[in-house]
Amino acid sequence: SSYLGNIPMGKPDPILGINESYKSCTDPRKVNVCVGAYRDSSGMPWILPSVKLAERRLLDDPSSNKEYAPIAGDGKYVDLALKFAYGSDGDIVDLSNIAGMQTLSGTGACRVGGHFLSKFVPKPPGLSRVPIYIPSPTWGNHISIFEETNMDVRRYRYYDYGTNRLDYHGLIEDLSNAPDGSVILLHACAHNPTGCDPTMEQWHDISELLLSKGHVVFFDSAYQGFASGDAEMDARALRYFVSRGHKVMLAQSFAKNFGLYGERTGTISVVCSNPNEKMAVLSQLKLIARPMYSSPPIHGSNIVRTVLTDPELTSMYYDNCGEMASRIRSMREKLVNALKEVGSLHDWGHVTEQIGMFAFTGMSADMCDILTAEYSIFLTRDGRISLAGLNDGNIEYVARAIHAVTD
Ligand code: PLP
Repeated sequence: SSYLGNIPMGKPDPILGINESYKSCTDPRKVNVCVGAYRDSSGMPWILPSVKLAERRLLDDPSSNKEYAPIAGDGKYVDLALKFAYGSDGDIVDLSNIAGMQTLSGTGACRVGGHFLSKFVPKPPGLSRVPIYIPSPTWGNHISIFEETNMDVRRYRYYDYGTNRLDYHGLIEDLSNAPDGSVILLHACAHNPTGCDPTMEQWHDISELLLSKGHVVFFDSAYQGFASGDAEMDARALRYFVSRGHKVMLAQSFAKNFGLYGERTGTISVVCSNPNEKMAVLSQLKLIARPMYSSPPIHGSNIVRTVLTDPELTSMYYDNCGEMASRIRSMREKLVNALKEVGSLHDWGHVTEQIGMFAFTGMSADMCDILTAEYSIFLTRDGRISLAGLNDGNIEYVARAIHAVTD
């Protein structure tokens, strides 16, 4: 009788569990619209041609090796990644004052960032932990990540299920009522799961409010370029906040926009006021990473560095990324058209208005259960459909099934 006999069974991950059920389903009609990864028009994973070329070059480069990266990762990669996010126009953002470190994709960035914030952000009076406000709903892992970093995880209203639109007034009210100096997590673009982003006017007002409350802004950017097809456009909110003086933290992922899911390629960065602050912040980020995983993996960052240092590969990359975004956008429109064609009288306008990888349909958990049980369509129970899982071969089937359960 060791201690092992008393260990309770842990809950399966809601999303990864659904993927397992999809894999073991034997229904030939089955469709996976749960997965948050791009699929091409025949339903297959896609390695970007620019990424493949970069890999080939790395393989042929006699100076390539498998040495450890430094704790903060590959400095050249970090510089290029920060330029990609913050822009290379020095008038807007002075990169020399940004502390940046390579991380294990966006998840690792949120984890290291959360740890840093919980250690260094002053606790508002009367609180024993640093509060972080995350949108409701949000990417499910945010809750666990920030709880693991000992932050006080709170929610702010984000989505109005009645109108299927941003709950802007709820958001403003909740962030106004948060204690001054709280951490506020914002999705930089293509909010997951709702696909619903504030307008630039709303971003302006949110920025104004957060500045006046002394809140600390934490941007999570997992879809830059993947959302609209234009990496500059998708970085607008982040760059706007920085230009207005927010000392933001940014978690950046190259999983979706470079298709580097399993390569775990990202950065964490903090906009500082001067080089001394930058050095101190970076030193603390490294102290967090060292006992956690020592140093990051190198293959994904080698790829991103290779692509972004070669103008030809860079331009090919932008085409590849644009292709993914436009296929996804076309699936969004085709889904709404197909719903009309099969006779749905519901207003699906919100689905066309949304941006990014998902259609947040407004279907109830019961409806989702029927889609899975009777039609072998696998999705999360919040009614979120990954548009990447749709293609010309299955879209009508999915539309008919959605119509049947929502009619
Ligand atoms: N943040 C958001 C909002 C996401 O949707 C995701 C992935 O789905 C991530 C972060 C991080 O993903 P990864 O750790 O694969 O970069």
